Amino acid sequence: MSANKGASVVVVGGGVTGLSTAFWLAEAGVDVLVLERGIVGWEASGRNGGGCSHHHSPLFAEEQRLWPMMDQLLGHPTEFVPDRIRIALSPEQYTLYGRAVTNARRQGFRADELDARQVRELVPLAGDNVFAGHYYHFGGHANPHRTVQAYAWAIRDRGGRVRQHFTVTGFARSGDRVTAVQTDQGSFGCDHLVIAAGPQTSRLAALLDVDIPMRAARAEMIVTEPLPPMPLGGIDGNGLYGRQTLRGNLAYGGGPHEWVETEAVPGGPRPSTPLACSIARRLAQLLPKAAHARVIRSWAGIIENTPDGRPVLDRPAPWANLTVGSLSGVGFGLSPASGRALAQLVTDGACDFADLGSCRLDRFSRLEPDWAALQGWLPGGLATV
Ligand SMILES: Cc1cc2nc3c(=O)[nH]c(=O)nc-3n(C[C@H](O)[C@H](O)[C@H](O)COP(=O)(O)OP(=O)(O)OC[C@H]3O[C@@H](n4cnc5c(N)ncnc54)[C@H](O)[C@@H]3O)c2cc1C
Repeated sequence: MSANKGASVVVVGGGVTGLSTAFWLAEAGVDVLVLERGIVGWEASGRNGGGCSHHHSPLFAEEQRLWPMMDQLLGHPTEFVPDRIRIALSPEQYTLYGRAVTNARRQGFRADELDARQVRELVPLAGDNVFAGHYYHFGGHANPHRTVQAYAWAIRDRGGRVRQHFTVTGFARSGDRVTAVQTDQGSFGCDHLVIAAGPQTSRLAALLDVDIPMRAARAEMIVTEPLPPMPLGGIDGNGLYGRQTLRGNLAYGGGPHEWVETEAVPGGPRPSTPLACSIARRLAQLLPKAAHARVIRSWAGIIENTPDGRPVLDRPAPWANLTVGSLSGVGFGLSPASGRALAQLVTDGACDFADLGSCRLDRFSRLEPDWAALQGWLPGGLATV
């Protein structure tokens, strides 16, 4: 007999998806418990670029609405800074990046063209190699570590619980209901289960006979020593994403990513010299006046990927009380909105602010069994995402 206190809703996974879901549930007065096998944000949620500009997502409008108010809503700082500049170093990059601008404008968001002189005025670390750029009056970036912590504290402020170092190992079921979550330290009863375990979502859902096609990719980031703060910290381009932190460090990542087995390497994924060097080289091209800066840290993280790159936000059959959430590589920025959507799926069975049709699992019902091989997503292969 377990002495653990269950909860109305148990959320598996203390990354931004699970934490945001728990936050919105706690905000609505729901008794919620998050179970995390490590510490909150130990996986991708604490290792990402902090970008919040996902114009291709059905959750984009809500992402953009919520970020400017997240510090106030959570009651703790995320270090969110609005707006971004994307620099093109060639006409080809300018054309490619222009597609994002067209898509965002179509949804009512503003973006301005910048000539090379304007880019250099706004981005003091840019150089003579700038072709042109775009100023996004949307999106932005936040500090992943501060954001993860802010979610966790906000959950506790509202009476929710976050239990770290609890590894979920299985589920108890009765008929079409999940009745308890089993961990390495006993089981926790639940009225509803949310699985939001990043790349592990697929493996855990399979324990309930739910098939979520997903593959994992290893991505890397580097951080430089602090440099004088630029007017705007969110500067992308040259195949890189990243930001200047409030302290002045440049934190950047970018492909190619490497397909890996889903189960993380013991101790976590490690950065590799070739990829870190490739990021550093491209960062020196993007911001030549930072080329002298030393790289002081690098790390790797595992990104979850569905076959079409779109999230899974669903209540899969045949379960009456199961919700699954996996964000397919863009989960940090979308987390305020994805958590709110998942919380509504739990409480109401539907989301009232976005059409989640493209996030349903049944879109994969005709997927070829060897889809990963067909897409070239096999361990050891490279992804240019
Ligand atoms: C280098 C890098 C850069 C990125 N840059 C960006 C970016 O700029 N913008 C953006 O939007 N996204 C970015 N991403 C993607 C983003 O970080 C992820 O999509 C997002 O963090 C996923 O959050 P999550 O909570 O769904 O999953 P995760 O962060 O993976 O969290 C899942 C949690 O579940 C826990 N867990 C797993 N199994 C169990 C178990 N059995 N029991 C208990 N707990 C378990 C894990 O320990 C983990 O903490 C980047 C990712 C990486 C790696």
